[in-house]
Amino acid sequence: MIIFLPLGGAGEIGASCFYLNISGTGIILDCGMHPQKKGLEALPKFDFIEDQPIDYVLISHAHQDHLSALPFLVKRHPYIKIVTTPQTRALAELTLHDSISIWKEQLNEEEIKIYSHEEIDLLIQSIEYKAYNEGFFIKGYNGNEEIKITFYDAGHVLGSAGILIELNDQRIFYTGDINLTSQALIKGADLPLGKIDTLIIESTYGATISTLIPKWTDEAKRFSAEASKILNNGGSILIPAFSLGKTQEMLKTIWKLMERKELTQAAIYSGGISTKINRVYDYNRYVVNMTDNDFELASIPKKNLYEVDDPTKFFKEPCIVIASSGMMIEGTASYRLALKWIKQTGSAIFTVGYMEESTPGYKFANAIKGGKIRLSEYGKEEEVKCSIKKFRFPSHSKREELLEIVKRLKPDKAIIVHGNLPAIDWMGNSILKELKNIKVHAAEIGKEIVI
Ligand SMILES: [Zn+2]
Ligand SMILES: [Zn+2]
Repeated sequence: MIIFLPLGGAGEIGASCFYLNISGTGIILDCGMHPQKKGLEALPKFDFIEDQPIDYVLISHAHQDHLSALPFLVKRHPYIKIVTTPQTRALAELTLHDSISIWKEQLNEEEIKIYSHEEIDLLIQSIEYKAYNEGFFIKGYNGNEEIKITFYDAGHVLGSAGILIELNDQRIFYTGDINLTSQALIKGADLPLGKIDTLIIESTYGATISTLIPKWTDEAKRFSAEASKILNNGGSILIPAFSLGKTQEMLKTIWKLMERKELTQAAIYSGGISTKINRVYDYNRYVVNMTDNDFELASIPKKNLYEVDDPTKFFKEPCIVIASSGMMIEGTASYRLALKWIKQTGSAIFTVGYMEESTPGYKFANAIKGGKIRLSEYGKEEEVKCSIKKFRFPSHSKREELLEIVKRLKPDKAIIVHGNLPAIDWMGNSILKELKNIKVHAAEIGKEIVI
């Protein structure tokens, strides 16, 4: 018997964590933290599996909402085996260390013991890694049969994987975060061949009308036209971006536009952890699917944003600043800089990715020049003097592509995860309408599904 139990990332985006009991072997898919929640609320609900077998945790990619709760899981279950791709392991080493400072701000030490850098080092050393398309076998302490696991390139960020789980008479595929279409650097996803019995599928863009998600090259044209206008008038542009994935994709996009003289030349600022992540992208460029294996992020002339101690410097000469976090979470560089940016008439904030509705990023993205923005319930209203433009450079599949994944894998059951409620509704209804004989489940935290 196979039991599927969501511990997080169901009916929402954040703290992705799904437990599978496959005839006695306990497998956890992803172990993320909820970026918008605080304290214990930010962690997956590990209590639900306290009495279950727990043998393996498989990590789909190194974004915070899929990885960052791993140290807390390992603390509870020290003998759990962690497996991911070599690229995600290398990125995890950077992002987990980086998370410690975020945890210190977000988590209450009385509720949860926060980790040391030494503990993270030990954890990283214990991570096993397997390349894409190389199947390997696992079996838990009380497991009754061998289970074959294969990672497929998910086309989302470097190292991202869809996870195929095969046993005697069942094939289960978990998409992780998946993008069928190529981005500037990373090529689109690979899918397993043949029929799948159960598909666990993300639904980030389920509620987004796909005409709002343009082709990367078309969006790059619109971006360069708008950005050139600001730069030519002496303004500067702030781009909030996740340090893993979006920053690298935007760096290449912007640099290629400048090289082709479609975009006005200006200094590019980035830095912090994203510089180290760039190196991991560069090291791996010949072993993963890249659109151009010879291209190196290191070849782009960049200035370090964290070496600028006086932010007024950003407005003395036109420049482009790429800063994390992507959804402009309070206290992060993009949030702090945005508060400076909104006071500058000639400058602009360009958002380039998905914004969760509850985040400051969503508020900034939807603010208008000349309008007001209130960032917290009791905070004061701020006047928005800069321009704000929304762009979409998607790292997730559009909703039609999500349906395409379902059509290609022909599952008997589809379990929808990693999306807000309208996204899940659209996905569920569309699957039922367009495809016959599929049982659709909207995953719910704490609610078991027997596969
Ligand atoms: Zn992701
Ligand atoms: Zn995610």
